[in-house]
Amino acid sequence: MRININLTSLLTTVLKICPRCGATNDKKKFIGAFCEDCFAERVKIEVPRAITYQICKTCGRTRTAKWEHLSNRALEKLALREIKGKFNNVRFIFPDSGDGTASAVFLVQAGDSFIEIPKQFELVQKKTQCEDCSRTSSGYFEAIIQLRGDERKVAKMRDTLVRSLQRKTFISRIEEQKHGGVDLYVGSNKEVFALVEELGLRAEITYTLHGVKNGSRIYRTTYCIRLI
Ligand SMILES: [Zn+2]
Ligand SMILES: [Zn+2]
Repeated sequence: MRININLTSLLTTVLKICPRCGATNDKKKFIGAFCEDCFAERVKIEVPRAITYQICKTCGRTRTAKWEHLSNRALEKLALREIKGKFNNVRFIFPDSGDGTASAVFLVQAGDSFIEIPKQFELVQKKTQCEDCSRTSSGYFEAIIQLRGDERKVAKMRDTLVRSLQRKTFISRIEEQKHGGVDLYVGSNKEVFALVEELGLRAEITYTLHGVKNGSRIYRTTYCIRLI
């Protein structure tokens, strides 16, 4: 009698049967009441079949919250915006081109340990044009930088300015002047002002009225910088 009772309690504590697939814990690892496969399937992580995002056909930048260079980080931000569910961590593998099949491995807490849940989705690029590029192609500019003076110093300064400004805004036109010097037509006046200050350049600033928009006057700013 005594032996029978002991055996029954031993069996119920040792043998688990998965209520979903019927697997037993002598064959499979269990997490709570379910086998690990059924546990993984019951975790609700919703990944869309395809994630479409915009990419500028001119500069190749991609639109997340703002326009930024195509990178794994940018794609991660895009993907995380579309994925729903609870998970502790995720690892993505994106195609190099940013277009095609991508995979994600989700790490989900299961009792004292973690399980990995792999999923796949398609990344679809939609070619478009960012605001900066469409402004550049339409010749938009807010500021003109006129570099004058020593030919070599002008060339060097022009390279410095172009490199810095292209990271923050855009340059719609560069005009070599007949009698020496160069004019740079730049998209953002704010960025020009900041850079002139940062480099400690002495600039003669003039404003010209360009037009009126929504009742306020629009000025274009010219920075004349003499290098001697
Ligand atoms: Zn199961
Ligand atoms: Zn662009």
